[in-house]
Amino acid sequence: MTGARGSASVRVRAPGKINLYLEVGALQPDGYHELATAFQAVSLFEDVVARHAPDFTMDVSGTVDLSGVPSDDRNLALRAARLLARETGYTGGVHLDVHKQVPVAGGMGGGSADAAAALVACDALWETRLSGAELHRLAAQLGADVPFALKGGTAIGTGRGDVLSPALARGRFDWVLVTSDEGVSTPKVYGELDAHRDRHRLDIGPVPARPSVATEVLHALRAGDADMLAAAVRNDLQVATLRLRPDLAEVLELGESSGALVGMVSGSGPTLAFLCLSPEHALELRATLAAAGHRARSVHGPVPGARVVA
Ligand code: ATP
Repeated sequence: MTGARGSASVRVRAPGKINLYLEVGALQPDGYHELATAFQAVSLFEDVVARHAPDFTMDVSGTVDLSGVPSDDRNLALRAARLLARETGYTGGVHLDVHKQVPVAGGMGGGSADAAAALVACDALWETRLSGAELHRLAAQLGADVPFALKGGTAIGTGRGDVLSPALARGRFDWVLVTSDEGVSTPKVYGELDAHRDRHRLDIGPVPARPSVATEVLHALRAGDADMLAAAVRNDLQVATLRLRPDLAEVLELGESSGALVGMVSGSGPTLAFLCLSPEHALELRATLAAAGHRARSVHGPVPGARVVA
């Protein structure tokens, strides 16, 4: 049973994301950066099954290295469940089974997807029936990328990435993702970017005062034109991620010289995303990268956000 009245369990699927565009403003007094980003949800999914339980507990399984993933109250999924219970006055608990396919600390928002999935799953299991706007508000309290994991598709994020507006995207975009064994810490990447900007202030020009997504990106998405998109992508964090993980530069070069329209670090990395012309093109590139010893998989976007599934 899935989400019907009195269900014993509810299964929700939520996607990982890539950032097609990420412009990072200056460091703010509160320690955060203002961002302008274009997110795309891709076909690499997290599954969360929620079951009635007297307390708040969880198990984590998956196809990725799970060593950095807590299964206590530090886990975003469990925090999401507790937040929903607190906000709605629900007095019971839940057991969550989280199955991860999105690489941990990979810059693809896996933890955020788990949190969004847990919100939707508990809302259905407990029949608390929050509106989309209420779920969005709770999602934003859990983390800047959680509202997007709830919505999915393609969207523009401003503020800390949590103020979303939909972006019209036609057709489908094919990507090859190269994942790494070891994740990178997002705060570390931002710290490295700030240090890099301090050191090179004269060479790199002013940091964007009001970051915004380039209109070329919006045009490319609207036209469903991968070539146009390849010319417009940007990631301000890439320079910092590559300083922390210089080995990735070579993989980016290999992907681009093997036919990718463009290669980029996804969010804070270390996952790399290569844009391709078609599903066939993505399969070819994936085979080339895998033959060179990299963990590569082909995905497509946009896909929907957190949804109850049978
Ligand atoms: P972000 O860019 O939002 O930091 P990311 O995609 O790079 O995210 P995640 O896999 O979401 O990385 O997780 C980053 C860290 O958050 C992990 O190293 C882990 O310690 C912690 N964490 C908390 N909850 C989860 C979860 N459900 N899945 C994975 N990591 C989690």
